[in-house]
Amino acid sequence: MLKMVFTVDVEDWFCSPQLPLSDWEGKELRLEQPIRQILELLDGNEATGTFFVLGWIAERKPDLIKEIHRRGHEIASHGYAHRLVSDQSPKQFQHDIRTSKAILEHIIGEKVYGYRAPCFSMVDWGLDLLAEEGFVYDSSLMPSSSNALYSKFREATQAGQSSFKITERLWEIPLPVCRMGGIAVPWGGGGYFRLYPYPVFQAGARRILKNNGSFVFYIHPSDLDGGQPRIFNTSWLNGFRRYYGLRKSSAKIKHLLSDYTCVSIHHSYPHLRGCH
Ligand SMILES: [Zn+2]
Repeated sequence: MLKMVFTVDVEDWFCSPQLPLSDWEGKELRLEQPIRQILELLDGNEATGTFFVLGWIAERKPDLIKEIHRRGHEIASHGYAHRLVSDQSPKQFQHDIRTSKAILEHIIGEKVYGYRAPCFSMVDWGLDLLAEEGFVYDSSLMPSSSNALYSKFREATQAGQSSFKITERLWEIPLPVCRMGGIAVPWGGGGYFRLYPYPVFQAGARRILKNNGSFVFYIHPSDLDGGQPRIFNTSWLNGFRRYYGLRKSSAKIKHLLSDYTCVSIHHSYPHLRGCH
């Protein structure tokens, strides 16, 4: 069976750069149920995953993070407050990644080595700071121009490789794109996974795996949460992109897990564990 890397960005339905941190307090935390659903699906298929956890969420749900870890999955960082890297000063970013790393390491009692930028918004200077703070890999490169937020950093041209050394002390695990008529279409998961019918997704994934030898899938708890408050549907198109296919996601993930051997980043890239 073909192998796929399975990742989850552990945040809740309101953790958006559109909503300042001060507005998060008091919002209903809904992620536990979809996370448990994902954990059951992974367990049922003897699969493992990498969970990129937001520090703000970890502070409020430490037992859930401990349980994910206890069930054999990798805990990595998604930063603390889900602010775009490009919206922060280097000092603010350093504080954000340092804080979230410390919170996660305190909860699981182990080192955390991986990082994913909110909305894949990594920038050049952020990579150097990641290495300085002890991260060994980044998984934020979405080599597509379909969204202005997506990472534009110096090694972006190397996309198409399953992993590569991006700085002296940091590896990059890029997200997959499917090339169609010269356009790089994001194919890794999240809203794209909800939008594409499963057979279409599957055909693209197979093509990417054949060309690159690797496929990094990602999903959010809110991608499975059909009952979430719909506060972000400011336009028809945005609402469609954000909320389409929520109720079918779990069945599609089940399909994916039976079609591929899914593993965490640690499992797939053992050299990224622990040393520079
Ligand atoms: Zn996120």
